[in-house]
Amino acid sequence: MAVYHGPRCRQCRREGVKLMLKGERCASEKCAVDRRPFPPGMRTTKRRRSATEYNNQLREKQKIRRIYGVLEKQFSLYFEIASRQSGVTGENLLRLLETRLDNVVYRLGFAPSRSSARQLVLHNHFTVNGKKVNIPSYRLKAGDSVVVKQKSANLALIHSSLKAMKETPDWLTVDKVKLAGQVVRVPERSSIPSDIQEQLVVELYSR
Ligand code: SF4
Repeated sequence: MAVYHGPRCRQCRREGVKLMLKGERCASEKCAVDRRPFPPGMRTTKRRRSATEYNNQLREKQKIRRIYGVLEKQFSLYFEIASRQSGVTGENLLRLLETRLDNVVYRLGFAPSRSSARQLVLHNHFTVNGKKVNIPSYRLKAGDSVVVKQKSANLALIHSSLKAMKETPDWLTVDKVKLAGQVVRVPERSSIPSDIQEQLVVELYSR
């Protein structure tokens, strides 16, 4: 299963925004976007090129791809599925990304970042509807439950992450004592952070 293994802070600096890829560090003074607010390989805050329409679309696609930790090929597959579904393609795309198991584990607060969530899923720390699932891209639907396995209930990472969790999205519920979460419904666009401009991705793929 392919995944990006390069420096994650570099991705944020490339996009010029905090993509929150490293959990606690992202909120600390160590964040690379705060310390070096210019693209990697440059020594000033000035960008070399003025932003074209195409460039804006491309950057937005890269930003979304990096937020969810999805590689190019998988992302275009998601777009294909989203465009075949009824409704607004951009919203369908975000819904597909949000309902990935690794994202739901992160949103439930069981992991401090999506990459940690991915690791936890790969290492068999969760069940979905009572069955072992270790596929980060596994797509959840309304009514599905995600539970920390009994053997993993003492993992310090899960507990510290739950403690730091501020709020659970309205389409999920979590029981912090039982270490169990549920997808109440698939998310509406309004439940997904609004600083994502998915329409730019639709425009990019429609070229
Ligand atoms: Fe991005 Fe977090 Fe690194 Fe800051 S600390 S640059 S938000 S991954």
